[in-house]
Amino acid sequence: MGWRKPEDITLKVGEILKPKGIDFIHEAAKQVDPDASRVLTANREIPYDYLVISTGPYLSFDEIPGLGTEKGYTDCTFTLDHAVKTNLSWKKILAEPGPIVLGSAQGVSCFGPSYELAFEMDAELRKRKMRHKTPILYLTSEPYLGHMGVGGLGKSKRFFEDEFAERDIKPIVNQAIEEVTPGEIRLKDGTKLPFKLAMIAPPFRGVPAVAPLGNPRGFIPVDKNYRHVKYPNIFAVGVTMAIAPPEPTPVPTGVPKTGFMTVTMAKTAAATITSEIKNEPLPTPEELSVICLMDMGNTAAYMKAIPVLPPRQESVLKGGIHYKWLKAAFERYFLWKMKYGLSNLP
Ligand SMILES: Cc1cc2nc3c(=O)[nH]c(=O)nc-3n(C[C@H](O)[C@H](O)[C@H](O)COP(=O)(O)OP(=O)(O)OC[C@H]3O[C@@H](n4cnc5c(N)ncnc54)[C@H](O)[C@@H]3O)c2cc1C
Repeated sequence: MGWRKPEDITLKVGEILKPKGIDFIHEAAKQVDPDASRVLTANREIPYDYLVISTGPYLSFDEIPGLGTEKGYTDCTFTLDHAVKTNLSWKKILAEPGPIVLGSAQGVSCFGPSYELAFEMDAELRKRKMRHKTPILYLTSEPYLGHMGVGGLGKSKRFFEDEFAERDIKPIVNQAIEEVTPGEIRLKDGTKLPFKLAMIAPPFRGVPAVAPLGNPRGFIPVDKNYRHVKYPNIFAVGVTMAIAPPEPTPVPTGVPKTGFMTVTMAKTAAATITSEIKNEPLPTPEELSVICLMDMGNTAAYMKAIPVLPPRQESVLKGGIHYKWLKAAFERYFLWKMKYGLSNLP
């Protein structure tokens, strides 16, 4: 939306890690050789006693013709570069209004950001008195609004349906994309959706360097301590690890691994490795849960799910402007915490 500049939300990782005695090698891993315990980059071979993989998603634009920011016709906000480019498309919409399509293709496992963008664009267009010139359509592979890859969360279905109705955002659910051509998305059922700006999250896979260690989509199978099921000195945390969906959905969707969940996984993996090195009993992993603050432009929502997948002990979804203030405060706290390497803080 242009509400943050890249330098506001970017940290110099190498400088943060150095005082802790951690070397930062800014190179792409090309391959892992698990039998020889080494990682290969273009320039070197890095041997390891333990390897923790946290390479996130490979954004698989190529699976859908015409999808994507480089070879295709759609935008994305899933990397900083993509987000900066989407901002240029947004500025064009503000200059020359036209239809917007937002949402998630088949095989996505991160739905929150697309909902956030729909609400943010709606709020901003209303503020500029341009909303009536700019139809917003929300296209998703989820079987219903608010499913989010986790079988819904509390009253999420009703909550999103009501918000979309009030904001005049048209939902199209349970759909897969056949192809994208300039200015048009064609769905598998033949429907054609014209657009001037389309932000479509692509299917997720594991990144090529580590995909051979994973399942057919390249996500890495791990045990409850995030240890690879076959290689005991390899751990995988975050988006790169495999979680089975709570239920099969008619159009494929994946379980999101949020930042909050990723931190929990990383702490468990780190505690497991240090316990093993010290010959101490392994830690009991903390149950994965969701705590999310979703920006909605002029307001926000708080989501909590314990555990991540149903049936749950607790699930909460509440809206309110104070959650927007809380999200802004959390952003400052989180960046401060990371800048000073205080990852042991909550
Ligand atoms: C727009 C957006 C908004 C989000 N908002 C929230 C939120 O409000 N709350 C929340 O909890 N979560 C949120 N998430 C999800 C959160 O960002 C992810 O859960 C989290 O970043 C996952 O961490 P990760 O380490 O698995 O992957 P990433 O953060 O994607 O990190 C992977 C890293 O590995 C690097 N890498 C990849 N391949 C290689 C290679 N071959 N060699 C070397 N390095 C490599 C990448 O460059 C990257 O730096 C959001 C996600 C998006 C896209």
